[in-house]
Amino acid sequence: MNSDKVITEAEQSAKHFTGISAVGGLVRGPAWVLHIRQEEITYRVITQEQVADELARFHLALKETRAQITQLAEQVAEGVGVEEAGVFDAHLMVVDDELLIGAVEELVRESYICAEVAVNRVAQKYSAKFSAMDDAYMRERSSDILDIGRRVVRNLLGVADTIPSSFERPHIIVADDLTPSQTVTLPRGQVLGIVTDRGSVTSHTAIIARALGIPAVVGLRNISVAVRHGDEVLLDGDRGTVKVRPTAAEAADFEEAQRSRREWRIELGDVEEKSATTPDGHTIRVLVNADHTFDWQELSSPWCEGVGLYRTESLWLQLGRAPTEDEQVAAYGKAARAMKGRQVVFRVLDIGGDKSFGDVGEGGEEANPFLGLRSIRYLLREREVFRQQLRAILRVSTLGDVCVMYPMVCDLAELKEADALLQECKAELLGEGVAFNDKMAQGVMVEIPSAAIMASQLARHCDFLCLGTNDLTQYTLAVDRANENVAALYQPTHPAVLWLVRETIEAARDRKLWCSVCGEMAGDPLLAVLLMGMGADTLSMSPAAVPAVKYVISKTPYADARRLARAVARAGNGEQALEMCRDLILRTAPEALGVESNSSC
Ligand code: PEP
Ligand code: MG
Repeated sequence: MNSDKVITEAEQSAKHFTGISAVGGLVRGPAWVLHIRQEEITYRVITQEQVADELARFHLALKETRAQITQLAEQVAEGVGVEEAGVFDAHLMVVDDELLIGAVEELVRESYICAEVAVNRVAQKYSAKFSAMDDAYMRERSSDILDIGRRVVRNLLGVADTIPSSFERPHIIVADDLTPSQTVTLPRGQVLGIVTDRGSVTSHTAIIARALGIPAVVGLRNISVAVRHGDEVLLDGDRGTVKVRPTAAEAADFEEAQRSRREWRIELGDVEEKSATTPDGHTIRVLVNADHTFDWQELSSPWCEGVGLYRTESLWLQLGRAPTEDEQVAAYGKAARAMKGRQVVFRVLDIGGDKSFGDVGEGGEEANPFLGLRSIRYLLREREVFRQQLRAILRVSTLGDVCVMYPMVCDLAELKEADALLQECKAELLGEGVAFNDKMAQGVMVEIPSAAIMASQLARHCDFLCLGTNDLTQYTLAVDRANENVAALYQPTHPAVLWLVRETIEAARDRKLWCSVCGEMAGDPLLAVLLMGMGADTLSMSPAAVPAVKYVISKTPYADARRLARAVARAGNGEQALEMCRDLILRTAPEALGVESNSSC
């Protein structure tokens, strides 16, 4: 919660917002507001006659709170474990605490203030008292009290704190922030757009939204305060702007913009079917980033050349627990079968950082979860989880061109350890008489600067390299990829990042390995051309980005892209490099930048 933020009256009544464009697209619809902040509780005085009704409201909210916590406990007991569900016992004790209930009733009865203000005051007061206690157990109760207080207030105000599994009609989700697990479980086809106070282009939430094709604007700071449940919202994911409660003229302008955007998408339609070939005959592979939640029937169509990044962790995030080996075989097998022999690169569990469930990858104890027990580090410690996953991938390896990829590798030792376990799994399966592809390719994700610097060494021990530019940018520039406050510093075109990208591509080429790029950079038409010019032979991106990238490649001569890569290598900073990319696309495919092709550029 952002209770530490000061929200001005002007912000509360603001109607126009500019944030960070995370996923393109224009959508219009009613808001579904998640969470409430303390600042939204309005002080309301009641009359003596209203006291009984106010107390009844309070008790109804308590009853709802009790039911919600019981349901949550049941879900956790089923999905995670009975022991873990025990934490909710403490929450239920707070809901039933007579001292707290009595204190709220007294405020309503004696001071004639509305129930939500009374609950908030009592929760603040007792939470402060508990947090000052010596006993660690009692201190922990302090946050339980605050948590329950907020839940009761939300119930009193009728504000949602969860996303329902279905809506009566599609909505735009407005929230302080969404976690990757919330995003992955959004009701498909019913979420028009996402608008959040926090986040940035490469936060995992934005990536999942992009994969789902849901337009999103993030980093809007205080929008969740200004928007009310059901408010009409105009979301322009291309420009990163949001309008709330629009005037008729604003709505009409928006509709016009929506129409011309649709026309451009129709034009792109036929590019999708073709391979990505430049006018001078250079072809690169354009693959998709996907996970088990995708429409695999749609991806089995010929336009999809393969899967360059299958994010396996979505399975963990959606289930809220570790899937069994057989569940993994079922999910991975579905993807491999749909690809009918085309490539599928399964990235092993990339949990941690901002992706967590239960206490897995929670980073609760870690001051810097992005630098902590993430991805391969987690797997090399939890070897049984790793073993089951490698076995599952091997078991589907006979279904097509299946590859395995290790994320967050920082040195050769990690790659060797992963490989040793893979060989053990092969021996096990052999003993069990289970078929697998002994030659299944293994690759390394280059997303930590040390891996890029040592790319030639890594390339000698694997079959392919794949640049994870989202994390590579974050770790090279020491800029949190999910933090809107430093979003302007997050520059994939920064000379240092591009230097590492170039070194990695060249290391792969020297060993005649293929090198792909699967970070968000690959799906940005401007940067896709640069990456092609730098020598990347495969780009992998969210399916929604494929048509525009193929379009731009089909219009830009390879010779120009090579020249661009050479010029960019001399750029003094990230903005200059980006400008050079823009200049080229303005010449070759201006319509991709929303500029008419007959413009004077
Ligand atoms: C990356 O880091 O570039 C990447 C593709 O992985 P993720 O975004 O899932 O961390
Ligand atoms: Mg990554």
